[in-house]
Amino acid sequence: MTALQLSVVVPCFNETEAIETFHAALLAALESLGDELEICYVDDGSTDGTRLLLGGLAALDKRVRYTAFSRNFGKEAAMLAGLRMSRGAAVVLMDADLQHPPELIPRMLELHRHGYDQVIPRRDRTGDGVLRNTLSHTYYALVRRCMDVEVVDGSGDFRLLSRRAVDSVLSLPESNRFSKGIFSWIGFDTVSFRYRNRERAAGQSKWGSRRLLNYGIDGLLSFNNRPLRLAIYTGFWVFVSAFVYALSTIVNVALNGADTPGYATLLTAVVALSGIQLVTLGVIGEYVGRIYHEAKHRPPYVVRETSESCPVLPSTPE
Ligand code: UDP
Ligand code: MG
Repeated sequence: MTALQLSVVVPCFNETEAIETFHAALLAALESLGDELEICYVDDGSTDGTRLLLGGLAALDKRVRYTAFSRNFGKEAAMLAGLRMSRGAAVVLMDADLQHPPELIPRMLELHRHGYDQVIPRRDRTGDGVLRNTLSHTYYALVRRCMDVEVVDGSGDFRLLSRRAVDSVLSLPESNRFSKGIFSWIGFDTVSFRYRNRERAAGQSKWGSRRLLNYGIDGLLSFNNRPLRLAIYTGFWVFVSAFVYALSTIVNVALNGADTPGYATLLTAVVALSGIQLVTLGVIGEYVGRIYHEAKHRPPYVVRETSESCPVLPSTPE
């Protein structure tokens, strides 16, 4: 048996429209690898027949394997399942919608051969809306300040990982996973290069603005306790300014006598403080929620079937 050089891991959720074009493009780009390639698809509980398409691909080509979830568990879980499945000496993680061009993989492999454990193609932001652009810039600036790990703007989940990098990712036991942070946390020699952003080949993006926002909050909170630190500092400064304000009031009363108290100041202070308290409570709640989630020790996903457990026989008579 030839040693597997490369595993390509592809999470798919309702990708019937894109998967066949993607598969063909991938095979075309990696023709030279022959049997040293495997493709690990993960069907993240699609409701549109993606699983059957994957079954078909696996039946026709033994280099194709798949795992299908019992329901939609999210892309993070799908990536984890794909990494666990992969057996290659290098692993490329990519989306099924051709936004991650397969033509870049040979170049990524080349850089990997030069000794890099992580190779990250970074997309530029052509084609993104102005709003999304500004928001993500702000977000990355915030993340850089709040996290101990470096997360670079434009680096998505498209990347090549060496076997030892994959093993270290898999050695992290947490079930609430934020891969962008994890990939950066494991370290190793990393190189990145730019490519031009592409539109989705077919189908719809599954990331509405609400989902993106939640993902953003997850990212900020799942790496360390700096938001709690921030709450402590805010509380401290609010206290200091209240103290200064009280002193100045006392001096004022002593010098000028009692005045009509400022109703507006009082209301502003109460409202502002309640706001800060609610946000802080929310932040604490998020952490407690996370502890609760981790303490249950649930698996991050449930497998419905795999290409090994459920081999589909080619059914088209020819
Ligand atoms: N995906 C997934 N589970 C989900 C949502 C998305 O496995 O719950 C997959 C999807 O099939 C695609 C990749 O993750 O291969 C990226 O999704 P999408 O293109 O919707 O995200 P975007 O490119 O807009 O960030
Ligand atoms: Mg996409």
